[in-house]
Amino acid sequence: MIFEGPFLKMPTSIGNPIQYYLNLSQDLLSVNQLIGKIITLKHIGYSCVNCGKNEKIFRMGFCKKCFFESPYASETIIRPELSKAHLGEEERDLEIEKEIQLQPHIVYLAYTGDVKVGVTRETQVPTRWIDQGATLALPIAKTENRYQAGMIEVALKNHLADKTNYKKMLSEQGEYVDLYEFRNRVKEYIPEDFRLFYLADETIVSLDYPYTVPEKINAFTLDKFPTFSSVLRGIKGQYLCFDDGNVMNVRNHEGYVVQLEIIK
Ligand SMILES: [Zn+2]
Repeated sequence: MIFEGPFLKMPTSIGNPIQYYLNLSQDLLSVNQLIGKIITLKHIGYSCVNCGKNEKIFRMGFCKKCFFESPYASETIIRPELSKAHLGEEERDLEIEKEIQLQPHIVYLAYTGDVKVGVTRETQVPTRWIDQGATLALPIAKTENRYQAGMIEVALKNHLADKTNYKKMLSEQGEYVDLYEFRNRVKEYIPEDFRLFYLADETIVSLDYPYTVPEKINAFTLDKFPTFSSVLRGIKGQYLCFDDGNVMNVRNHEGYVVQLEIIK
């Protein structure tokens, strides 16, 4: 069976373990069901997530033009503290920026091999945690907009990691880390103006992936191997993990048009 289409971040649903899907050939494919099967991935073109053109992907699924022009790829997506929609100031398209930024956001601690701090729209919980491969997560503040959440994150970044190290994330064996203790330790660093958003009573969420840690981990891309064939062994975060610890980040391949063949 051959499926075809542009890779997008895998949609997920919560469960024990978490369920992963791929939207190819207008079909929602269960990726969990492919575990143990030989699959072949073939890179056959591009489709920018914004304009759909067959242009080389520059970053985040966008062609170069869209990456520098689309409000969905603006700097505040990566750096929430630069948000300006609450001031009525436009970056690229004020209406879209208002939609993205002027809604409740969650500041959270997540364990991905390191304890990190992150920000997401409330509607993206727990999706954001799953995409990062967090095994534990704890909301620590709920703000009215993206700017406030970004300001809290910036203040806490000095005391915690803010990026996921994929090797640590994929090597992490599901150990327990007391995020309550981390929360209690960092809460004093929340800037005074934003303390009213602090959440004292949230419960740690634990997430279970269809994944076992391989002996070694080697990341590869479809740029290096336009055709790749192997047995799928597991999924964590947005990583597909194959035999011999070969891992591929689906997120870094957004906009890559692929053929996926299930061999057996
Ligand atoms: Zn484009």
